[in-house]
Amino acid sequence: MKDIIQLHDRRFKVMISAEEIDRAVEAVATRINADYSDCDTPVFLAVLNGSFMFLSDLIKKIDFTNEISFVKLASYEGTESTGAVKNLIGLNGSLEGRHIVIVEDIVDTGKSIEHMVELLQAQHPASVEVCTLFFKPASYQKQIPIKYRAMEIGNEFIVGYGLDYDQLGRSLKDIYVVTE
Ligand code: 5GP
Ligand code: MG
Repeated sequence: MKDIIQLHDRRFKVMISAEEIDRAVEAVATRINADYSDCDTPVFLAVLNGSFMFLSDLIKKIDFTNEISFVKLASYEGTESTGAVKNLIGLNGSLEGRHIVIVEDIVDTGKSIEHMVELLQAQHPASVEVCTLFFKPASYQKQIPIKYRAMEIGNEFIVGYGLDYDQLGRSLKDIYVVTE
């Protein structure tokens, strides 16, 4: 691993190693396995793009029968010009009566996850929980409970393991933090 990397105009330094990430993913998977052992085929909804690497590692540690969909919050095409209204794309079929685990890369202010949970609740699932790789407690402003948090961090900007800085850095296996 390189200790310092350059992405676009900024320099980043290693903050969390791949081994530490793996331990955190293992711990959260163990909790999910215990909590969902009696549920009928839970569905993991992984939010693109940032959660692809987390989902890939997490799901290999899940020991119950499950379904996976990759979803994205997309702005409505056409007449809406505000960009504020978003819909959910990528779902396969109805979620009515299903147990849903949303898999996110990072919950910061909570705006995105709150919107996603509202859209999903409208489909009358049996349950909806959030599993995020990173949670920023000092930044979170919403009431939606974030039940599964693999790691908590401060308000710093991070990249790697799926997370990008203007599309760069997603393939890094360690987490890097922006330097001053
Ligand atoms: P929220 O709606 O919770 O404020 O923001 C969530 C989204 O902001 C994340 O899914 C991610 O796309 C982006 N984000 C927030 N903090 C970071 C960060 O530290 N690094 C990166 N790469 N993206 C972040
Ligand atoms: Mg995201």
